[in-house]
Amino acid sequence: MLTREEMRSLLVARGQEQEELFAESRRARQRRYGATIVLRGVIELTNVCRVNCDYCPMRRDNVRGNDTYFLTADQIVETAELIRASGINVVLLQGGETPSVLPILEDAIPRIRRLYDDQVEVLLNVGNLKRAQYERLHAIGATSYILKHETSDPDLHLRIRHETLESRLRHLRDLRAVGFKIGTGLISSLPGQSLDSIVDDIELADEIGTDMCSVSPFIPAPNTPMSLEPIGDNELALNVIALLRLRMPHLLIPSVSALERVGGGGQSRGLDAGANVMTVNFSGANDQKRYLIYGKDRFVVTLDHVRRLVETSGLELRGSVFIKQETMSRESAR
Ligand code: SF4
Repeated sequence: MLTREEMRSLLVARGQEQEELFAESRRARQRRYGATIVLRGVIELTNVCRVNCDYCPMRRDNVRGNDTYFLTADQIVETAELIRASGINVVLLQGGETPSVLPILEDAIPRIRRLYDDQVEVLLNVGNLKRAQYERLHAIGATSYILKHETSDPDLHLRIRHETLESRLRHLRDLRAVGFKIGTGLISSLPGQSLDSIVDDIELADEIGTDMCSVSPFIPAPNTPMSLEPIGDNELALNVIALLRLRMPHLLIPSVSALERVGGGGQSRGLDAGANVMTVNFSGANDQKRYLIYGKDRFVVTLDHVRRLVETSGLELRGSVFIKQETMSRESAR
């Protein structure tokens, strides 16, 4: 295993050293997953959020000024039908953190499972909820849950998210205990973030036993307190991807749209660095404009873009890695 010192030094690798790091990471991915990339379809449920993250245009302080929306359960299921028709069996339901999505999810999740004859991974990314609510969502058929820790630096976390790191980690532990496959994620190049803190992020992902971990370079978004901060460094984010892969070969690591937004070709480099997940956006055009993930100027990933990119990288698309295990654990629970 790489030492902290080695990781810190590899975070700033460039040129030949960086290419060797990526090649090593790709070999680790190949050994664990072969030449395959997991394909997800995402539906953006709502742009309403009760949290006030300083980097996000959907933060609580902006909700009143934003053109807000909630999808209905019918709209979600109709969109899931499009995802199914595209041959994708991972349905990611993502939105701001608000308990208002719960009744909608309660209605939609069992219908999505029926649509797929149970052969689907329902992946949630809807923020902190109560443990009993996690239990309910798991019981009605959600498989996996992403709750990004964003930064492992407790002071920085509190300063930019106005929530404690400790509570985020407690929720991740609850999700695991309830039976979810869990995912975390970090933002790299945050103002005030040190390289040591990014090494901590990698170690933290290992400690919590995560199944999935994303890395997004910081993007200063309009209408946020961080709008004037400098844009993040893709190379740093790519090196974090490679280090995560080397330390935890089993991880599902997406090549996120933020990489493409920061630099054209960024998602292709993400695959080069050892990522193994791509996410296609199935939200309607109008909702994509209102889901202000980095402001209105976002890169929306289409199925054609993903197919092109994956083929060019000499890789193949595949479905969920959790479905078989899930079917077995749900059957043994009966
Ligand atoms: S990053 Fe997520 S939790 Fe934070 S304000 Fe935006 S939608 Fe809410």
